[in-house]
Amino acid sequence: MLVSAAEMLKKAKAGHYAVGQFNINNLEWTKAVLTTAQELNSPVILGVSAGAGKYMCGFKVVADMVKAMIESLNITVPVAIHLDHGTYEDCYKCIKAGFSSIMFDGSHYPIEENIAKTQELVNVAHALGLSIEAEVGSIGGEEDGVVGMGECADPEECKKIADLGVDMLAAGIGNIHGKYPENWKGLSFETLDAVQQLTGEMPLVLHGGTGIPADMIQKAISLGVSKINVNTECQLSFTAATRAYIEAGKDLTGKGFDPRKVLLPGYEAIKATVKEKMELFGSVGKA
Ligand SMILES: [Zn+2]
Repeated sequence: MLVSAAEMLKKAKAGHYAVGQFNINNLEWTKAVLTTAQELNSPVILGVSAGAGKYMCGFKVVADMVKAMIESLNITVPVAIHLDHGTYEDCYKCIKAGFSSIMFDGSHYPIEENIAKTQELVNVAHALGLSIEAEVGSIGGEEDGVVGMGECADPEECKKIADLGVDMLAAGIGNIHGKYPENWKGLSFETLDAVQQLTGEMPLVLHGGTGIPADMIQKAISLGVSKINVNTECQLSFTAATRAYIEAGKDLTGKGFDPRKVLLPGYEAIKATVKEKMELFGSVGKA
């Protein structure tokens, strides 16, 4: 069932668990995430970055594929299809393409401009029944080959953006995208706590969920994180399983070269990663 992310995140915040956002890259990825959510009776958010959207021939192809798959596979758990780190222009493209949720990443704008653009997009998204995520304090990670350490958001700025009526708020708390470096200092629970104190019921979003230790994830959830983004971890497990298949020479035996066989171990690996995360986040049985 395609829905916005608003209700599922309100429920998650109230119930002290988090909904996973799993980024998708192709049909296998989408099928793996959707079937696992259904098997575990968990709500789920499918994340689509601009790059992944482009790879899949555009946001409309992605939205149509997800909708058709929900119908064909009889997926009854709540599913949101969400633009990940959208530009202002991409937000409008996704609204038009039929997404049920968008993220406007205005974190690189001066706060006044971030506020103005976020407010406009909140109004448009809500008028059409979509949910919207905003970001304050840029989230680190590899950009153009440079790995930045995660910044911490200013709680007062978070409050300003939360008051615009967004449905979920990503606040940098030392988290970063991609693999965490050896010398990573960990999440700033002090910042998270200060943000939650000021934003109250607002579901908070933790980006860069790959490689954050389980105890830190659970503590973050206890401090108001209701959505956790997982991207890199599914990529790593998919690729490791595919590598093992090829290295074992399975593609050279019988019909092992059949792409449906080659991609199967990776598909199963994504499912296992998604299951592990849903169990950790506490969203199993919460659909
Ligand atoms: Zn992110």
